[in-house]
Amino acid sequence: MVTRKYKWFGLATFFMLMLLTLSACGNETALTKQNQYDQVKSSNQMIWGVKADTRLFGLMNIKTGKIEGFDVDMAKEITKRIDPKAKPVFVQVTSQTRIPLLKNGNIQAIIATMTGTPERAKIVDFSVPYFNAGQSLLVVKGSKIKNVQDLNHKGVTVLGTVGSNSVINIKKVAPQARVLQLQDYAQALTALKSGQGDALTTDNGILYGMSEQNPTTRVVGGTFTKEPYSVVIDKRQTKLKTAINKAIEAIHKDGTYDRLVEKWFSNVPGFNWRTLLND
Ligand code: GLU
Repeated sequence: MVTRKYKWFGLATFFMLMLLTLSACGNETALTKQNQYDQVKSSNQMIWGVKADTRLFGLMNIKTGKIEGFDVDMAKEITKRIDPKAKPVFVQVTSQTRIPLLKNGNIQAIIATMTGTPERAKIVDFSVPYFNAGQSLLVVKGSKIKNVQDLNHKGVTVLGTVGSNSVINIKKVAPQARVLQLQDYAQALTALKSGQGDALTTDNGILYGMSEQNPTTRVVGGTFTKEPYSVVIDKRQTKLKTAINKAIEAIHKDGTYDRLVEKWFSNVPGFNWRTLLND
């Protein structure tokens, strides 16, 4: 008798747990399926994931406590055009955390030096590209590394950041080199300056942002990939994606894009910023 009672108790508990799990999954689907465009409109805010350690694109200004950069300005301009009443809200992301934060609903869009790649397109959606970058190298002045071919040797260490496309690309272009992945770009730069690697690899704009502030380093070898940056949204957010694309088009048409390119890149030594301007 007793054992039977326990058996029923066990079964009931099992079904209760199953029900709870199912309803939790249901909630999660509802949350991620929510129409983010309508959310922006009704909440009067748009929640963006931006870098906070990447000079020129998204960098925390410790004096003001605000994140500043080209990506941040683009986010402000896009938000304004989607809904003039909406305020952009900024959440810090790294190359590694940006997709998980989007997928679990903490942010509504990513604008964080992010390349639209076919691999990523399996899980997220991309706007039209808004910035043309390309992968390059940063070395300490006096380094023997002059280009990406110089990295393709045993005993060479290349520094990069977890979750970046750059660490995937470099393994293809210089398969002999060891790739050391740091948590973010601030740590990768520190590692380069303290001699833990022979070169740091990521996109040219990011590297020029570093070299400008760190005169002992320089960008070498030109670009060896194409990295078109897009705004990233979750799958099935067609309304939001259309609105973002329309906003980017308007930003180009009314001269805002060129103004922002000039604001952020025209004083960066060595950076060929004029090629970014509209014709
Ligand atoms: N654009 C590359 C990427 O999307 C490198 C820059 C980054 O780590 O954000 O991964």
